[in-house]
Amino acid sequence: MTVETPTTGPGLQTGLVDAFGRVATDLRVSLTDRCNLRCTYCMPAEGLDWLPKPELLTDAEIVRLITVAVTRLGVTEVRFTGGEPLMRRGLPGIIEQVAALEPRPKQSVTTNGLGLTKLAGTLKAAGLDRVNVSLDTLDPARFHTLTRRDRHHDVVAGMAAAAEAGLTPVKVNAVLMRGVNDDEAPALLAWCLERGYELRFIEQMPLDAQHGWKREQMVTAEEILRDLSAAFRLTPEGDTARGSAPAERWLVDGGPGRVGVIGTVTRPFCGACDRTRLTADGQIRNCLFAREESDLRSALRAGASDDELADRWRAAMATKKAGAGIDDPTFLQPARPMSAIGG
Ligand code: SAM
Ligand code: SF4
Repeated sequence: MTVETPTTGPGLQTGLVDAFGRVATDLRVSLTDRCNLRCTYCMPAEGLDWLPKPELLTDAEIVRLITVAVTRLGVTEVRFTGGEPLMRRGLPGIIEQVAALEPRPKQSVTTNGLGLTKLAGTLKAAGLDRVNVSLDTLDPARFHTLTRRDRHHDVVAGMAAAAEAGLTPVKVNAVLMRGVNDDEAPALLAWCLERGYELRFIEQMPLDAQHGWKREQMVTAEEILRDLSAAFRLTPEGDTARGSAPAERWLVDGGPGRVGVIGTVTRPFCGACDRTRLTADGQIRNCLFAREESDLRSALRAGASDDELADRWRAAMATKKAGAGIDDPTFLQPARPMSAIGG
């Protein structure tokens, strides 16, 4: 298969193009694999063997790689994630340096919300545009069961602080689990609409460290939409063509409120994927579900030039597969769990 390099469009000639003509412009950067919650669908109660510090990219190394991505490879959006990205002390400094790049990329953080009450203003001042906060339940006791920590109040307060600081629109990620919180879809949506937050449901994916995911246990996009439709009038936003956005978005009761449902397993959007990922230890992943990674850290630490780093990144993306194939019986879960890849 030959890689066709587009000949028009800004940045595309030297961009991250794969063999199917997809161009990656959205970079997910994992800042740490550590976390202060223990969501049952993500990691075990005792946590994981965290990456040793020398293997983690330094703040300066992260900024260097993001600079290569933005100035040489056409990346226009940078999303910080983890693990829990707010646990990384250097986050405001990283954001500030990325905000100074030309062209300036959009920056957002996907967080569990702990610590946002203190940090929201600082992050906004540093140049952050938006946050995605994860909240799976409105019930503090359920939250405790689901995350193994009694911090519901802190997350809710963190969301309010983000909205107050202007990190808007505040987007909310929710994962529904059968028999745990699968009765909450309409209530979560009503709660988010009241506050002006944009809710997105994410189908549970086989990316947990414990390898406990079961297809038949998963609450599907179809079920979620059925439950929401019983309580709200949903109209597909636009022409329902999703473009590169993973969420199918719906206007709620005529708008302006909306809701998204990310059916990664049952309604994959691989054909329109525009993502590239950098792990906290400096590996490029061309897909959340990839089983191979490309080591940029070694090259970086061996003194590679920006051009060389850009070439390695292009090569890593060129081999991106057509689809993740989660629903395929031959699907094998990647070695790294979601918390170490960066969700
Ligand atoms: N700690 C941050 C948080 O929870 O938002 C960022 C990292 S977390 C891995 C990113 C997102 O992935 C969260 O919204 C979380 O709910 C979601 N997630 C984690 N494990 C998942 C799984 N197995 N299936 C689907 N979503 C998952
Ligand atoms: Fe931590 Fe996010 Fe995983 Fe929950 S989903 S354990 S908050 S990394």
